[in-house]
Amino acid sequence: MTNHEAVSEGIDPSTPSVARMYDYYLGGKDNFAADRDAADQFIQVLPGIREMVRENRAFLSRAVELVAREGVDQFLDIGSGLPTRENVHEVAHRVAPEARVVYVDIDPIVLSHGRALLEDNPYTSVVQADMREPELLLAHPEVEGVIDFTRPVAVLLTAMLHFVPEEAVVDRILTAIRERLVPGSHVIVTHAFAGEVSAEVREAGQRPYRLTSVGGLTSRGPERLAELMEGLEILEPGIVPVHAWRPDPPGDGEDVVIDLTEPDILGLVGRR
Ligand code: SAM
Repeated sequence: MTNHEAVSEGIDPSTPSVARMYDYYLGGKDNFAADRDAADQFIQVLPGIREMVRENRAFLSRAVELVAREGVDQFLDIGSGLPTRENVHEVAHRVAPEARVVYVDIDPIVLSHGRALLEDNPYTSVVQADMREPELLLAHPEVEGVIDFTRPVAVLLTAMLHFVPEEAVVDRILTAIRERLVPGSHVIVTHAFAGEVSAEVREAGQRPYRLTSVGGLTSRGPERLAELMEGLEILEPGIVPVHAWRPDPPGDGEDVVIDLTEPDILGLVGRR
């Protein structure tokens, strides 16, 4: 996409977008110079970020597969990001070929790319909505038209709650989601965690994210994430760095090192 095409679609190529920075970390091509500059600044602070986001996507695949094997055949992926490899519908369809997936994102570039890619796919929808208005998001006609909340559903909130700084808003998001879930439903979450890095390093990591349209990156740790899962059973192995969550192939678990003093992306699956 050229800058000119972007502007005509309501996309601002000069303000870094967290969706496009993430695409850059993953080695994708849907990003502009401003995104790459901000992402490169973050890579300077946290050189392991590229590996972490790859592990985040691998976690997402394992979690979706597990949930689909539990019989869930409808997925609501909030803050879905730009289409990449192993999108939720591709993983889910290997287990449940008729699974329905609604992708929701606030960023217009996600909508334009997602719609172009999934136009002819009868099992997927792409919706533009803001998770900070969870009641509106859940009542969106395209969400309600596809997802039957009287049956189990899996809601994904991966690598995106850290873009909401206000604790009260995060509480409201989880409360609104929980209220819609019937037993057998799942919530799949990943979240940035700063570990015990110094205040200077935290500040340096914040700087590139302050340039983006979401305005910052908020760290939350296992205790806070557990609080947000109140009323849900957190599946084994609990809240751990994404690479350590049921690693594939089985057996690798013995070698997994969990060091919560280091920055990482934490992952969990909660079941209602
Ligand atoms: N969920 C994907 C994953 O884990 O691979 C993509 C994560 S990407 C880092 C975060 C996504 O959250 C971006 O696409 C961004 O546009 C979206 N996002 C940020 N704030 C949002 C909001 N308030 N409502 C909906 N989506 C939002």
